[in-house]
Amino acid sequence: MTPVDTVIECRWVVPVRPGGALEHHAIAIDQGKIAALLPIELSRRRFQATRRVELPNHIVTPGLVNAHTHAAMSLFRGIGDDLPLMRWLNERIWPLEKALVSEEFVYDGSRLAALEMLRSGVTCCSDMYFYPHAAARGMRNVGMRTVVGIIAVEFPSAYATDADDYLRKGLAAHDEFRDDPLTSFTLAPHAPYTVADATFERIGMLAEELDLPVHLHLHETRHEIEESLAQFGVRPLQRLERLGLVNERLIAVHAVHVSEGEMRLLAERGVSVVHCPSSNLKLASGIAPITQMRQAAIPVCLGTDGAASNNRLDLLGEMRLAALLAKGASGDASSLPASEALECATIRGADALGLGQKIGTIETGKEADLAAFDLSSPEESPCFEPVSHIVYASGRNAVSDVWVAGRHVVRTRQVVAEAGQELSGVVLMPVPAWQNRCWQYLK
Ligand SMILES: [Zn+2]
Repeated sequence: MTPVDTVIECRWVVPVRPGGALEHHAIAIDQGKIAALLPIELSRRRFQATRRVELPNHIVTPGLVNAHTHAAMSLFRGIGDDLPLMRWLNERIWPLEKALVSEEFVYDGSRLAALEMLRSGVTCCSDMYFYPHAAARGMRNVGMRTVVGIIAVEFPSAYATDADDYLRKGLAAHDEFRDDPLTSFTLAPHAPYTVADATFERIGMLAEELDLPVHLHLHETRHEIEESLAQFGVRPLQRLERLGLVNERLIAVHAVHVSEGEMRLLAERGVSVVHCPSSNLKLASGIAPITQMRQAAIPVCLGTDGAASNNRLDLLGEMRLAALLAKGASGDASSLPASEALECATIRGADALGLGQKIGTIETGKEADLAAFDLSSPEESPCFEPVSHIVYASGRNAVSDVWVAGRHVVRTRQVVAEAGQELSGVVLMPVPAWQNRCWQYLK
């Protein structure tokens, strides 16, 4: 018998690669990694587990990967609803951020977001916000795997004075978390309309030097494209191309308005696209043409965007919506089938973030980032086909247990800290005070 830390015995395992579902299988975990995926009977003969978890009525999938969010903006959930993007930014979000955002705000907001995401089966998110070191500390504290964006914009904020200052501070955060196994980084220039050419050029060089992805909002609205044509004489993607940034490091968030030629360029260069369907619908930005993008072989993954424009960090919901929108928009019911939608929510997000060798599937040697869905409620019954069940039927309330790097972070829907104490009370404690400060400002 081989000793291992944990064996999880599951009714179904959906490893994502290979596709399909394995019935009555067990996942053996040792030192945070997946040691084996094998039939339960065999695992009982082969492994001596310190801890055995029985999930007799559950589907276990890889932890979901939310490839784009602004975690701390959870404290702005529901502020500025029913406005288009530029009015939402100019009239609500930017003035509020100027008034309220601080290191404490980002720490508290990021912990709130991490709690929400973990309870919905998301084990890894790619974040972009001010005070990235505070976001990293907050999410790390709750047990989330995080890809932290080294944000850059030209305008000053309480956090930084100019683009160089943003980069300097973000790079210091990168150094601070250099040895942290759950934290990695992207360079995150906010968008073409908030970042100057010189800053983009510097970011291109830093990306090469530090081997980091570049994560930005791109072609989100028609207005963004018109403004770029007026100011620079080219569309934003062409401008980035001239600046040398259109390559396999680039993670383009939204890509709602892209021409056929632009899709060819994205595909040729290996650019990843993060589809954020709820945010694009809510801000009336449009519907990204992901059926055409997938036909062009552009890797597409999924993001929630921030809770201020969604208003939930529910990647399961985004996956379902993406699959339905693809069919409705293309008139083809086979567009983005369930198996591919689940790939978009797991391995493709991991690949885009440079973590595809570590997470995103349930395979021996990978980190044990897992989500378990309890099928015992009326809403989850019956289950004929586990993969399509997860995509079309399951809701985040079905997520019962979650592991990040082998640590059992969510246990029967309770998020627990490393020392074992339940976390939601302490994470929610500062929220009413932030809410009051938002209200005072908005009055
Ligand atoms: Zn965003």
